[in-house]
Amino acid sequence: MEPVPPSPTEQDTDMGGDPACWLDRVCPECGGFLLEARPTTCERCGTALAAE
Ligand SMILES: [Zn+2]
Repeated sequence: MEPVPPSPTEQDTDMGGDPACWLDRVCPECGGFLLEARPTTCERCGTALAAE
């Protein structure tokens, strides 16, 4: 079997079409994008974010 080269359409581009990977970093209150990996509090509006 020969390895199948990845299709260009399936490779991730800079802002790929899967928002789920960063959706948990967006504050539901102010919509701010949080840089922390697992933020517990929005650094923009102070909203406590759900931590699991
Ligand atoms: Zn916020």
